[in-house]
Amino acid sequence: MTLDSETRYIRGACPLDCPDTCSWIVTVKKGQPIALRGDPEHPFTRGSLCNKVVDYLTYSRSPRRLLYPMRRIGPKGSGEFSRISWDEALDEIAERFRDVIARDGAEAIWPIAGSGSMGLIQGIYGAGRRLWNVLGTSRNDYTLCTISGGFGTGYTLGNNKVGMDPESFRFSKLIVLWGANVLSTQPHLWRPILEARKHDGFVVTIDPIRTRTAAASDWHLAPKPGTDAALALGLMHVVLTQGKEDRQFIAAHTVGWEKFRPRILEFNPSRAATITGLPSQDIIDLGKRLADARPTGIRIGIGLQRHGGGGMAVRTISCVPGVTGDWRYPGGGVFYDTRGFFGLNWNALWRDDLRPRQTRALDMKRLGEILLETDKPRVSILFVYASNPAASVPNQSKVLRATRTSFYPPRCKLSIAIS
Ligand code: SF4
Repeated sequence: MTLDSETRYIRGACPLDCPDTCSWIVTVKKGQPIALRGDPEHPFTRGSLCNKVVDYLTYSRSPRRLLYPMRRIGPKGSGEFSRISWDEALDEIAERFRDVIARDGAEAIWPIAGSGSMGLIQGIYGAGRRLWNVLGTSRNDYTLCTISGGFGTGYTLGNNKVGMDPESFRFSKLIVLWGANVLSTQPHLWRPILEARKHDGFVVTIDPIRTRTAAASDWHLAPKPGTDAALALGLMHVVLTQGKEDRQFIAAHTVGWEKFRPRILEFNPSRAATITGLPSQDIIDLGKRLADARPTGIRIGIGLQRHGGGGMAVRTISCVPGVTGDWRYPGGGVFYDTRGFFGLNWNALWRDDLRPRQTRALDMKRLGEILLETDKPRVSILFVYASNPAASVPNQSKVLRATRTSFYPPRCKLSIAIS
């Protein structure tokens, strides 16, 4: 859209790793961005950006941003770098790649990425993957962040990237925010929740911590961390004892009920209370709400799956609307990840068919161990982009030891960090 001959509005999207994926409008004057705001016409963004991003223009202009290739000139860790040209950087990287591929094979290159910009073309999930496919490098196995919960929802729903439509929470009569601090980490979801409340929707937050969201909810239950699966089973136990399972839905749309039902019956409220640390009466009361409130919408947060058994916890919680039949109704169901809603052709973007053969996948959460111990072939180049593994990968001391000492010569010839 053009305002005058010098000023334009450009519609875009927030690239951060956030489920709201806000639509924004940048005002550009004489080629420079001068203002940023949420798109008022976008049904989910509704004109507002969160506090993290509302001042994004200042962030993008920060003198501390890395804008040019910098080559390390001092010892590792000294922080001494000098600017080089793009041509020099690209030539050197290509030359190192060629050398390593000729000597050790392309699998000696490990491109390791996090979740910086989520743009499909320039971001980590985007077309850049084609380069690694063409070269036939090791594949980065994304085992951090949301993955175990993704497997959990995938097992239950058959697809780990879909669920109920978050906007449809406005129709819910019971909203369960399970390990989700929505006000801080998904603020735009709060609006449909407020709309539901206007129509007697009841909001429950399940979280060991009394977050802002928990404090703003109608009810806060604080189970012990890591006990969510037991709580879900205890709640479903109450639904069954109330006779409120949707037998028609279960018969028509689910599999495995004959094995799952007895498993639920092993977890009466008293057993679930012992495991979760919640009063048994709270489990009964929430179970009765679940039994009676149609539709019930559940938002599962990311944090609860970050422990042993976390994937199974998400899998179990995801079973609740299958038992209550909430999938029948707008405002009923569960959602964990929504990235599959728009049916992107990932294969066309990634072109995994360009890979000459199925190369090894390296588990990024075992980065330090792999760099120190893997020999066939050794990792000779670690290509780090949109990621800070020294801070975000488990077993930090091992990662630092690997990257600071053994990882660099003689074991590894090149580490490249791009952010
Ligand atoms: S809520 Fe904030 S971080 Fe999330 S998409 Fe919107 S502007 Fe970006």
